[in-house]
Amino acid sequence: MQKSWSKQEITGILSCRDPHLLDELLEAADRCRRDSVGTNVYLRGLIEFSNECRRNCYYCGIRKGNRSISRYRLAAGEIVSLAMSALDAGYSSLALQSGESDDPREINEVVQFVQAIKTQSQARDNTGNGLGITLSIGELTYDQYKKLWEAGAHRYLLRIEASDPRLFSQIHPPGQSYKKRLQCLNDLKTIGYQVGTGIMVGLPGQSVNNLVRDLQFFVDKDIDMLGMGPYIPHPNTPLYKKQVPDFEPFSMTLKIIALARLMMPDINIVCSTALQTLNPQGLELGLKAGANVVMPVLTPEDNRGDYTLYDNKNYTRPQELIERIKESGYTVGLWTWGDSRHYAVRNAQLE
Ligand code: SAH
Repeated sequence: MQKSWSKQEITGILSCRDPHLLDELLEAADRCRRDSVGTNVYLRGLIEFSNECRRNCYYCGIRKGNRSISRYRLAAGEIVSLAMSALDAGYSSLALQSGESDDPREINEVVQFVQAIKTQSQARDNTGNGLGITLSIGELTYDQYKKLWEAGAHRYLLRIEASDPRLFSQIHPPGQSYKKRLQCLNDLKTIGYQVGTGIMVGLPGQSVNNLVRDLQFFVDKDIDMLGMGPYIPHPNTPLYKKQVPDFEPFSMTLKIIALARLMMPDINIVCSTALQTLNPQGLELGLKAGANVVMPVLTPEDNRGDYTLYDNKNYTRPQELIERIKESGYTVGLWTWGDSRHYAVRNAQLE
């Protein structure tokens, strides 16, 4: 029987600054991941295909108001060819990410290249499965999500960023609504996607109580995937100089990943690039805490400098990531989609 976690227990762990407790927590999370999802770490070739964005999130470096980056949008042909290189390398799954557009023509273009990736990768791959596709392109309408699903995308990442509506409204401009974000998460689930969400850890105004609530939110929403990382201030954003909480975001993120693994043993958890950016051991410690998905960046080098969600983003070469995953005692799940086990379980229960 899975243990249920009380608010007091979670608060106690998150507030405790004893490094021994962190070690014990990581050990427990690692045991749990080995029992529930095994030692495989799955790769998602990350293609950041556009930094054009209509939003003005107070924390994000590609917000519309940042005039100091050049805006780009990769051509469909280039995206498809990057996708095929991921397939040839055995990654078997992609994460396609961008700023947020609501231009129907642009969304239609995404539908088209998702379809092209799907058919071409199925033809190229001798298993016939082709590439698994995760999208992370923000808040869209139900019909747009549905079209993208029909085109072949089957996972979607949309972080709630902060599950407390008050904190959410402090880090987003008035036009961006918490309710709409919840609606999007519900729509994605109704359509049938594997749904991922997550938060940033260490945001100005964030408390341990907020983080406890975030973990409970993930459980309540019965999510399939989690992507979480430390908040890293970006100089061209309104939150840049705002005072951050007095906890240390790196080890706090590790604790939250470990607790998430213990509370939701069969979900997929990403070891985020932000975690790897803050600390040279970010990859190894993130895996130990229970993360089982890593996203090697495939965005063309010419564009990376303009996809700056935060400062000094880490780019580790895919081959080095693979070596380091193996050296940490895990196996690399190549030639397989590596879907969330939780998704399969929750669908079996519905039947
Ligand atoms: N536009 C899409 C995806 C791009 S942003 C979307 O909104 O979902 C992807 C994630 O990067 C965001 O969800 C946010 O959690 C994270 N992010 C943005 N700015 C950041 C910062 N300054 N530090 C750390 N993470 C950040």
